[in-house]
Amino acid sequence: KSGFIGIVGRPNVGKSTLLNQIMGEKIAITTDKPQTTRNSIRGIYTRHDDGDNGVQMVFIDTPGIHKGRNKLGSAMTDMAVNTFKEVDVILLLVDGPMSKGPGDKYIVDMMKDVNTPKILVVNKMDTMDPEEYLEIYNEYNELGIFDDIYGTSALNGTNVVELLSRVEEFL
Ligand code: GDP
Ligand code: MG
Repeated sequence: KSGFIGIVGRPNVGKSTLLNQIMGEKIAITTDKPQTTRNSIRGIYTRHDDGDNGVQMVFIDTPGIHKGRNKLGSAMTDMAVNTFKEVDVILLLVDGPMSKGPGDKYIVDMMKDVNTPKILVVNKMDTMDPEEYLEIYNEYNELGIFDDIYGTSALNGTNVVELLSRVEEFL
C-alpha cells in the first residue's frame, strides 16, 4: 500500500512533532520555511515486511493555510483545496476547542466539501483532562465531516501507531 497524506493544522499544534514521532526522528524533513514547491514533502514513512503488506506513506504539507485568514488570497485557498483533493487522506491536527482560535474553523471550512477521507487528530492529549478532550471531540464530531477522530500525544507517542493503522486502511 502507498499513498499521500496531507497534514494540516495551525502553527504549534504539533505537526512537526507528530512527523518526527512517525519517522522515529530519522528522516523527517524538519524545515517549516515557506517553500515554493506545491505539496512539499515533509516526510516519508516506509514499513517493509516479508510479504506484500508493506506500506509507504508520503506526508505532504498543505500550502495556503498557514498565513491566517486576513492574508489569504483566493488563489492560496484554491491551492489548499486542490491539495486536499489530491491526497488520499487528510490529517487535521488541533490541540484545543475549535472556538479557541480562528484558524481551525477556517481550515475546516476549506475541507468540508472535499471527498477525501479526513481524520481529526486531537493532539497534546497529555495536557488535557478527559472532560476537555470530550468537549473537543464533541465539537468536531457534531460537524459530521470527519471519518474518524483520534486523540494523540505526538510528544510521547500515545495513540500514534493506532492512528497510522487507521490511515493505512484508507490507502
Ligand atoms: P507545528 O508548528 O504544528 O509543527 O508544532 P510543533 O511540532 O513544532 O510543536 C509545537 C510545540 O508543541 C513544541 O514545543 C512541541 O514540543 C509541543 N508539542 C507537540 N506535540 C505535543 C504533545 O503531544 N504534547 C505536548 N505536551 N506538547 C506537544
Ligand atoms: Mg512545524
